[in-house]
Amino acid sequence: MKVLDLQCRQGHVFEGWFGSEDDFQGQKQRGLVQCPLCGDDHIEKRLSAPRLNLGARAPAATEAPAPAQAAATAGGAQGATPSEAALLPPALQAAWLALARKVVANTEDVGARFAQEARRMHHGEVQERAIRGQATADEAVQLLEEGIAVVPLPLPVAAKETLQ
Ligand SMILES: [Zn+2]
Repeated sequence: MKVLDLQCRQGHVFEGWFGSEDDFQGQKQRGLVQCPLCGDDHIEKRLSAPRLNLGARAPAATEAPAPAQAAATAGGAQGATPSEAALLPPALQAAWLALARKVVANTEDVGARFAQEARRMHHGEVQERAIRGQATADEAVQLLEEGIAVVPLPLPVAAKETLQ
């Protein structure tokens, strides 16, 4: 069984069922294939069958947003700041960047010694001051359990660059 999408000279589109492609050609040559609307027997196969188009279009439509979204995310990550901030609206991004710059300007970067320094301050071994640095998730959790306040701050690269 072959289902063909056919079209007459008037542009009427209809579906024809044939045993095979050859059946269609044979019936067509004998004038047996006629447009059900106008009786025209000059019938041509539609190059792109609507039913096939529909089948191809449906998945494409549902898939379309995904690549677009992926592209947008990739574009945001290109700023070397693969953080959630890239997903914020521009106004919020600016505010967040300003805040981050303020934090950078008012804290001492202790880098990887962050957990160690935070502990020393907490135990009064060194003077309390605002510090920033890198801590692993485990370190952060440990500090919190010890009663040491830790605020995760994903610093944008731009905030650091302005100080260098
Ligand atoms: Zn017709």
